[in-house]
Amino acid sequence: MNLREYRKKRRFDVSPEPSGDSESGPVPARDLLYVIQKHQASHLHYDFRLEWNGVLLSWAVPKGPSLDPSIKRLAMQVEDHPLEYGNFEGIIPEGEYGGGTVMVWDHGNWTPESPDPGAALKKGDLKFTLHGDKLKGSWVLVRTRGFGGSKRASWLLIKHRDHFASAKDITVEKPRSALTDRLMAEIAREAGGDVEKAAEADPPPDSAGSAKPTRAKRTSAPARRAAKKRIHAK
Ligand code: MN
Repeated sequence: MNLREYRKKRRFDVSPEPSGDSESGPVPARDLLYVIQKHQASHLHYDFRLEWNGVLLSWAVPKGPSLDPSIKRLAMQVEDHPLEYGNFEGIIPEGEYGGGTVMVWDHGNWTPESPDPGAALKKGDLKFTLHGDKLKGSWVLVRTRGFGGSKRASWLLIKHRDHFASAKDITVEKPRSALTDRLMAEIAREAGGDVEKAAEADPPPDSAGSAKPTRAKRTSAPARRAAKKRIHAK
């Protein structure tokens, strides 16, 4: 695992992405990072990343994660990314590798469920628990034979059955940044990117998923008291 491919694909004098120069040493004595970045490039996808051996192992998940254990989501393994990448939210200039809008859609930590995660990765069957803002509970990444002769390794990201499993579409219900509470269009606007293209990755304003900021959903104190009274009156 190294960052040679990552660096080869990018021009750090043009793109604000981190170069990963601050090479991290051995496995740190803290929780392992987990992050999903929503990335509107030529196609919308969700980049699923798990810290391992000082880098972020990375998979591009075209449809994003599903909380439904009966749904298997294709996850194409891509080049390892530097740990600092987990905080990157903004714009990759058009014409550059991955040009488009990047949102930190979810972040937190992960715990391997396999006793030897290195061996599990090699075998292509990694079980783990996510401790994110949005994704929690038990998951598995399973390597498959691959589709269409792709050189990249195809994996499937699957939710295990536990009390975090759900039929809800989390990508629609929770479309905002875990870091800044912004929608894709808002990130693009503030970074001078293609707002219209970024907005295509946001749910329509009148969809079931709330496109409103979470703070706007908070009811006022009097309204909360009134609601409490109604519950107690039942
Ligand atoms: Mn990507």
